[in-house]
Amino acid sequence: MSKTKYIFVTGGVLSSLGKGVASASIGNILESYGFSISIIKLDPYLNVDPGTMSPFQHGEVFVTDDGAETDLDLGHYERFTQASMSQKNNMTAGQIYHNVIQKERRGDYLGKTVQVIPHVTDEIKSAIMALDGDVDVVLVEIGGTVGDIEGLPFLEAIRQVGLEMDDSDVLYIHLTLVPHIATAGELKTKPTQHSVRELREIGIQPDILLCRAEYPIPQSIKKKIALFTNLKESDIVSATDAESIYEIPLSFKSEGLGNTILKKLKLEKLSDDSQVWQAWVDRARNSTEEVVISVVGKYIRLKDSYKSLFESLYHGGVANDVNVTFDLLESDDLLEWNLDEKFKDSHGILVPGGFGLRGIEGMIKAVEFARTRNVPFFGICLGMQTASIEFIRNVVGVKDAHSDEFSKSTPNKVFVKLKELVNIEEMGHNMRLGEFSCILKKDTLVYDIYKSEKIYERHRHRYEFNPKFENTLKENGMIISGKNPERDLVETIELPTHPWFLGCQFHPEFKSRPLSPHPLFVSFIAAAKKFKQSKK
Ligand code: GLN
Repeated sequence: MSKTKYIFVTGGVLSSLGKGVASASIGNILESYGFSISIIKLDPYLNVDPGTMSPFQHGEVFVTDDGAETDLDLGHYERFTQASMSQKNNMTAGQIYHNVIQKERRGDYLGKTVQVIPHVTDEIKSAIMALDGDVDVVLVEIGGTVGDIEGLPFLEAIRQVGLEMDDSDVLYIHLTLVPHIATAGELKTKPTQHSVRELREIGIQPDILLCRAEYPIPQSIKKKIALFTNLKESDIVSATDAESIYEIPLSFKSEGLGNTILKKLKLEKLSDDSQVWQAWVDRARNSTEEVVISVVGKYIRLKDSYKSLFESLYHGGVANDVNVTFDLLESDDLLEWNLDEKFKDSHGILVPGGFGLRGIEGMIKAVEFARTRNVPFFGICLGMQTASIEFIRNVVGVKDAHSDEFSKSTPNKVFVKLKELVNIEEMGHNMRLGEFSCILKKDTLVYDIYKSEKIYERHRHRYEFNPKFENTLKENGMIISGKNPERDLVETIELPTHPWFLGCQFHPEFKSRPLSPHPLFVSFIAAAKKFKQSKK
């Protein structure tokens, strides 16, 4: 393999322009040309990883096979490309400073004053180079927006990388906004001009601008932006709002972005294949039937909290040729509602993961409704825990059944802290994290879905099903259909008397990709589709 080339993606004007999806889309385009890629996200905040943050801060915490708790953009990277993410693909300023301070304490810099330049920037550069030689192209997305104080050492580091390498080995792509001002009926270029100027003051001249806009940017506007930013018109790419994020690689490609990148990096296409992706996008677009899934969670007011979950349900929908509509319900509010009324149009109920007591009783009520009304039910992690607690409370009759996480005083703890975490109060990276195997029992729903005896899924939780209650479940009709073989931990539960009732301790949403939708989501949506038909 020839030496690795680097593409740096920065953002300007404001956040939430979709830098993650843009980076993932560029990865997708390069793969369609036959190149191997990986994508690294550098986050300028000071947390060592996003694991200790509430989902309300930056959305979901995405978990990789190797158990890294990472930024949700890594989910996009995996869903848009064939790359597998690991700890090396996400680095925060907190981790960088942590490494630098550890080195200082060890005496590695002995005699020197430790400074942002060169010590912190060198540490950032070694994070950037972590995958050097492994793939043809590494994309590096810098979190935040140009002008953020925290982002400066990162921009300085990528400036240095550009200086140290050949021009054709490094590319700077800047994502900006070209707002449409309705009263003037015009697309405005000034914010983009300012953003590029800010980048140039730091010493980085972008090679390509991706301009987010509500409408395709006309040539005259591209010409203006090019003139003010020291670029060619062909380097200004219109990044128009798309109906589905999965259309973005295709629309970038039709804007000529793929060819521009290849030309600048002096790369020759090895192939050019977007047909399978295009076919999937077309299939998604042609689905007309609608299936409504109620998601009963505790972080509902921020949709990003469940990013991978919504994407997985969408993939499952496409596989069934249906559009999935989400009915988002804050679990706390459920206690005040008439559920027959609330779930009237619902074809499936899903309780996703979460931490802490708030919202638990509402989730339990939703589980009870799904169980007793035969509505397809999918419980993920906390959802599986609340499903077990509901069953033991309402079917077995142990009214004070709970999880140790939510009630220290109850004698009937259906979930208990993982043995090695008992007496550990430190929160950071202290969970059952990453990929673990699970053995599925034959003649169960879950076995039927996976069609395999041994599966591997990603985990992120502290509490486990209490073995004391295994027989209670079984004797009352719940099946424990999957277990972790090494530690005999309960992984999946199901109700054979119900049309589709499944709980899993792991997070299948981290492994679904458009072209290989996760079987649990495909099956759940199929059950919801069937339920809808039976209601007619
Ligand atoms: N709070 C639960 C636990 O730690 C569930 C975690 C989750 O849903 N990811 O076990």
